[in-house]
Amino acid sequence: TSTAGLRNVVRIYRAVSGEVHALRGVDVDFPPGGITAIAGPSGGGKSTLLSILALRDRASAGTVTLFGTDVTEARDSTLKRLRRSSIAWVPQRPTHGLFPHLTAIENLYQTAQIRGRTGGLEPVAALDLLGLTHRADAPPSRLSGGEQQRLAVAAALTHAPDLVVADEPTAELDDGNAERVLQALTKVAAQGTTCVLSSHDPRALRRLPRVLHLRHGVLSAERSGSEPAEPR
Ligand code: ADP
Ligand code: ADP
Repeated sequence: TSTAGLRNVVRIYRAVSGEVHALRGVDVDFPPGGITAIAGPSGGGKSTLLSILALRDRASAGTVTLFGTDVTEARDSTLKRLRRSSIAWVPQRPTHGLFPHLTAIENLYQTAQIRGRTGGLEPVAALDLLGLTHRADAPPSRLSGGEQQRLAVAAALTHAPDLVVADEPTAELDDGNAERVLQALTKVAAQGTTCVLSSHDPRALRRLPRVLHLRHGVLSAERSGSEPAEPR
């Protein structure tokens, strides 16, 4: 069974200028322990897809199944409980989910405690893995955007969630730190956590086994990330 499955998922935004069809019937499964990158042009629907997967937004039509449960019509309180217990969300600007009054290392201890799950990495080890040891005592507001993102990834490592959803997690990082993030995601995936990320970073797309393309709200046929981008 898959960690997450979307069936014919449609998302329509109502904007002043009219309806925006951000997702037009997306069908996809994310198997346990798999890492999937969603590539595609800006405006293609990546953020919308990730938000629905992370239970931060709802489909306008279609079915969303998470952890074996159909959550399409689930109550907000159910979605909130699932977000807390099972999902790590790594947005591009992770002000969300980081506690502003706690330092980086305290954030990790607090997250692990709130989530109430065992099997994750020890916070000191998670900070080290993401190259943040020297920033351990800084609060999130003193961290750069890339550091905040890596702290959110470190938080995901400490509580072994069922699903990590990350928006462009390597975009702002230098090669060394991009590599640290990819290794960290590979590590959690090896422990059974399902990882889904959006990316147009070639350093990430080259490395990942499964890359899907989302254009105009349509998810294209899958192909291996190691194949050339276009047939010659
Ligand atoms: P991506 O992440 O690939 O850049 P998005 O999911 O952010 O794509 O956007 C998909 C489409 O939906 C775009 O046309 C975007 O302008 C539109 N869109 C996104 N969010 C909203 C919103 N809250 N209201 C209206 N249109 C939106
Ligand atoms: P709500 O906003 O309804 O409280 P959220 O979905 O924002 O629920 O968060 C659910 C729980 O998960 C909260 O306890 C929050 O602190 C935590 N959380 C959210 N995002 C992250 C993250 N990136 N890293 C760690 N914990 C997070």
